[in-house]
Amino acid sequence: MTPVLLVLNAGSSSLKFQVFASDDAAGPCRLFRGLFEGLGGSAHLIIRDGTGSVVAEARFDRGGAFGHEEALLHVSAWLGEQSGGFRLIAAGHRIVHGGTTYSEPVRVDTQVLEALERLVPLAPLHQPHNLEPIRILQRRLPDLPQIACFDTAFHAGQPEIARLFAVPHAMIERGVRRYGFHGLSYAYIASVLAEYDPALAAGRVIVAHLGSGASLCALNRGASVATTMGFSALDGLPMGTRCGSLDAGVVFYMLREMKLGPDEAERMLYTQSGLLGVSGISNDMRTLRSVAVTDPDARRAIDLFVYRIGRELGSLVAALGGIDALIFTAGIGENDAATRAEVLRGAAWAGFTLDEAANASGSPRVTRGSGPSAWVIPTDEELMIARGTRAVLAQHESSRPRPTLRATGDRHGSVENEAADRSRTRRRNLHVGR
Ligand code: ADP
Repeated sequence: MTPVLLVLNAGSSSLKFQVFASDDAAGPCRLFRGLFEGLGGSAHLIIRDGTGSVVAEARFDRGGAFGHEEALLHVSAWLGEQSGGFRLIAAGHRIVHGGTTYSEPVRVDTQVLEALERLVPLAPLHQPHNLEPIRILQRRLPDLPQIACFDTAFHAGQPEIARLFAVPHAMIERGVRRYGFHGLSYAYIASVLAEYDPALAAGRVIVAHLGSGASLCALNRGASVATTMGFSALDGLPMGTRCGSLDAGVVFYMLREMKLGPDEAERMLYTQSGLLGVSGISNDMRTLRSVAVTDPDARRAIDLFVYRIGRELGSLVAALGGIDALIFTAGIGENDAATRAEVLRGAAWAGFTLDEAANASGSPRVTRGSGPSAWVIPTDEELMIARGTRAVLAQHESSRPRPTLRATGDRHGSVENEAADRSRTRRRNLHVGR
């Protein structure tokens, strides 16, 4: 039976999952991707194989009784039924917030789960949903190793100055600081830069993750040095339904003058703003592009999105002290040639020269000339989770006591023991915080 990893990304009524074979020395190999929607109501499941063909589709109407737990049990049973069979060896979870403690993937035990629950106030709209499948699997498959991979972790090494808000010290001590998100996407892009051009991996690169959520990240030699999202995933660029950076005074106005409660204000800024709020039409770039020629509200929403990308890009160029390359990724970045063209024309001041034909075809490099380059690189957050999950499993394997080595007293010169020591040190570091 093929050993497989289950990668999970849970929302309030959805569960995205991917299945990776984990028996290949070359790294995890994607077998299936699936999506449950409408959990807790009339649920729908679709599973595709590696080529994108639908291999399973089902509806579950049990008067709201088909939730995340039933979905996970269904996936686990479905895996066992496939010809040849799959042996589930671990689950890797996308967890939005690792706070200041977790700067690498970590195996979840009771203490780790409690620590992640304490972070719920930092991401109340996402963290509880991310943690739910962990609890379910602990209950239903208690021996299954579970690994948490964090959206914040990639930014943990940023310079302290990039992480600070100018607020009283007591607030900083409470954790009111910039964390940054989309870290799994940025980590993936950083990991493949050299395949596109070795100079990118060694240079000053800004990555534009433009999807339903959107942010920019400045990479110096592949490490995050600044990013547009901050304390929450609301900051920075306008997004599909989120407002992006907003004068904090607006929130006081909403509470005091508009008489909104905090939950209502939060809902407005998270779910009714951004492209949707400004256009009044849709949060979906494809829809907006299709009507922008005749609809001034759609046009204005797109223009604001592009303008804000340009402003934030300038800020990150300053943080990096220059720019060698801009990478577009995620749904809009990978697919919307018009947004890429508008951003690059607006950034001509930095030396970008758009290659219209390359951009229209989405070929990896979309600029020409001797200035900074721009590229389209598809992101793969799930593969990063699978890689992180495998790495933690391997650390745990290698840190198991090895009686034969101990018996000979040979503690030196053993690669395995050195790896185990490094792994133990790393795990200790994870728990003291950084
Ligand atoms: P998420 O994974 O966060 O839901 P995605 O990365 O899938 O988001 O990005 C969704 C966005 O990408 C939507 O605004 C959608 O309209 C846009 N998008 C996807 N495909 C295209 C396309 N072919 N042209 C323009 N925009 C696209």
